[in-house]
Amino acid sequence: MSFHIFLKRLLRRKRVWDSCRGLNTGTWLPDSPRTDMDNMEGEGPSTVICTVVAVDSTSFCYRVCSVCDKTLPDKGPPVCRFCDIKGFNPGSSGFKRLYRILLSVASENKVFVVICFDRAARVLFGCSADEFFEFSKLNPFSAVAAGKVLEGEMFQMTLSKPKNGNARNIRVVSVFPLRSDFSPAINTLKKLYNVGMGSS
Ligand SMILES: [Zn+2]
Repeated sequence: MSFHIFLKRLLRRKRVWDSCRGLNTGTWLPDSPRTDMDNMEGEGPSTVICTVVAVDSTSFCYRVCSVCDKTLPDKGPPVCRFCDIKGFNPGSSGFKRLYRILLSVASENKVFVVICFDRAARVLFGCSADEFFEFSKLNPFSAVAAGKVLEGEMFQMTLSKPKNGNARNIRVVSVFPLRSDFSPAINTLKKLYNVGMGSS
């Protein structure tokens, strides 16, 4: 092949490349209207591979009545106004904590926020929200540390769009770690803080 032909082909390829780029500009932008999540509209849950980008560790759990599972207010005494009236649940110890944690995750083409409730969050944390709360009381900053531990981990997540008008966030229905030697956050934290090894 002569240099002349080679140059012609190169220029043609560049033109094709340029026009492709031009055509694609709209769809490559991060605020592109077409995304995985938009395809979920009106359908059931969808499964995506995603990486945890950040964990909102400012609030990772909420309180529910241990008898009827109704959500209790964040502030004030954790008294269930349904059960206490009936006398099932005297005193203020009748509550438990459940996970409710916001994660920022990245899929193939988008970064978005999902909300992770108790069942899915237990996979990430490796213990109940009550256990984690007790652990974080004894070991300051463990919620932040747990977030850092989970950052960069890849999961297969089944996500569903909020069904009622009040809920805004995409919900994690189930989560499955992709790394074969994945260790839940609590295990890493116990090593980090050097607790629960041999004792307790
Ligand atoms: Zn109750």
